[in-house]
Amino acid sequence: MNIPFIDLKQQYLNIEDEVNNSILKVLQHGQYIMGPEIRDLENKLAEFTGVKHVLTCSSGTDALLLSLMARNIGPGDAVFTTPFTFIATAEVIALLGATPVFVDIDKRTFNIDPQKLEEKIVSLQKNLKPKAIISVDLFGLCADYNSLNSIAQKHNLFLIEDAAQSLGATYENKKAGAFGHIAATSFYPAKPLGGYGDSGAVFTNDKATYDKMVSLRVHGQGKNKYDNVHLGLNARMDTIQAAILLKKLQIFPQEIEQRQKVAQIYSSNLGDYVTTPFVPENCTSTWAQYSILSENRDTIQQHLKEKKIPTCIFYIKPLHLQDVFKYLGYKQGDFPVSEELSQKIISLPMHPYLKEDDQQQIIKEIITIAKKPCLLNN
Ligand SMILES: *Cc1c(COP(=O)(O)O)cnc(C)c1O
Repeated sequence: MNIPFIDLKQQYLNIEDEVNNSILKVLQHGQYIMGPEIRDLENKLAEFTGVKHVLTCSSGTDALLLSLMARNIGPGDAVFTTPFTFIATAEVIALLGATPVFVDIDKRTFNIDPQKLEEKIVSLQKNLKPKAIISVDLFGLCADYNSLNSIAQKHNLFLIEDAAQSLGATYENKKAGAFGHIAATSFYPAKPLGGYGDSGAVFTNDKATYDKMVSLRVHGQGKNKYDNVHLGLNARMDTIQAAILLKKLQIFPQEIEQRQKVAQIYSSNLGDYVTTPFVPENCTSTWAQYSILSENRDTIQQHLKEKKIPTCIFYIKPLHLQDVFKYLGYKQGDFPVSEELSQKIISLPMHPYLKEDDQQQIIKEIITIAKKPCLLNN
């Protein structure tokens, strides 16, 4: 018996009838594009996050793209973000011709370091205009929004929360998706709230921004389909995907609880052997990943592989060292925390349906091979 890294099949079995019926309804009413399930899901997501306006879209990447386009981000603009994230976060900035400006992460939370962010803003090269920040809620833990909001305000920057991994998390009792001017999330299957295909959503309390994104989502349309006022995208979510997510959203609060339990069992058993995740007092994580640090990360991974326990490394190569961003001129040594983390981090199986026996086996195998907790030097 293999232990899955994320068990989507088990989840489906638990809600099989509900999901099947929900999909069937769409097949029968036939409104495959922008059917009534879309608005229903948007309303339910607004309720869930406490954000006024929610717009579903085709992916988390497009959600980020829509957020930047809503602000007319383009050539000559600097957008600050972290190099320790999934490629999409920085890719969308560059796709619009703007310049990703990387800022190293905090060594405990792995989220953008507010102090380093401010240093970067004030020392920005003069040919770039500071425009926006994309903060990432890495592994399901919200970034430091008290600091980020005040920096954004002080320097007149647009703050975008990349909540692709954090839906269901909280920061000072507010839900992820509610921070910054716009938040973007993803329903890619492996995310905390995943669909059965690609899709995403944007969240904002600002009506004008929302209206602009409504237009951008469908080719920049104006009064109607054949009136075009912006350069836009085809970035709609499929109705079938919304029908699935409506059912998954119903069990999501319960799944978050189960994720907490799994994380807590890891943390209480592994703390003497590896460095377990840090969650600040004012936060709850949604545990998109459960990631540990060790000096002998590669040995641990090899050992677990031999025992048929899957692991992943997020992220093995920080973005400033990726070929695609060579033109930005960064080099090894520029972001020491991200670079060191990429050598020491490893993510363990994490999902709401991880069986306790399986988890005990994972823990046992890690204890056999891990040496001791490690601190990041930088
Ligand atoms: C997954 C992810 C995205 C992109 O979402 P897709 O739905 O795959 O396009 C963006 N940012 C982060 C941090 C992610 O983890």
